[in-house]
Amino acid sequence: MINPICDYCKNELEDFGAILLSPPNKLIVKKFHVCLTCYEKIKPKDNMKYFKFIKEDDNKWYVDLPSWEGHKEELEMVLGADTMLDLLDLNQLHKVSLSIDTSHVNDSLIELHHLYDESGGAWYELKSKYYTSFNIWLCSVVKFVYGEIPRKFYINKIENSL
Ligand SMILES: [Zn+2]
Repeated sequence: MINPICDYCKNELEDFGAILLSPPNKLIVKKFHVCLTCYEKIKPKDNMKYFKFIKEDDNKWYVDLPSWEGHKEELEMVLGADTMLDLLDLNQLHKVSLSIDTSHVNDSLIELHHLYDESGGAWYELKSKYYTSFNIWLCSVVKFVYGEIPRKFYINKIENSL
C-alpha cells in the first residue's frame, strides 16, 4: 500500500489524515490529503458557539440547551447574567441570541473576564464600551458546554435570528 503525501507539508501520511475537496471547477473536484499536523493548523476554529436565551412566563431567563439532561433550574440565568440579558433585550422580545467566543474577537459587544470559581461555576466581570461593568455568575453548565471554565468570553448579539 502506498501512503499518500500531505498536500500541505509534502510529508508522507503516517496516520489517517483529513481529506479536503476543492469547489468544483468545470465539474472537476480536486482531492487533497492533509496530515494531522497540518489539519490542526487549517481546521475552522470551533471556539464560537451560538446560544439562545428565553425569558419565560415565570419572568426568569433560561438558556436554550436541548442537550442538557440535568434540572431545568440549572439553565436559569441568575446573579447578573439575567441583568445582562435584560440589557440586551432592547425590544423586550424576551428572547436574545448571542454568539459567544472564547478566543479573542475584535469589537465584541461584551467581554466577560474570569474572576474566580465558585459553586461549580465562576464569577466574571462584564466589560463593555456600552455598559457599566458589573459582575455576573455563570453556573456549572458553562463547564458542561466548554469542558472547562473559560478565562474570557467575547459576546455579540445576533439580530433577526429569533
Ligand atoms: Zn502536512
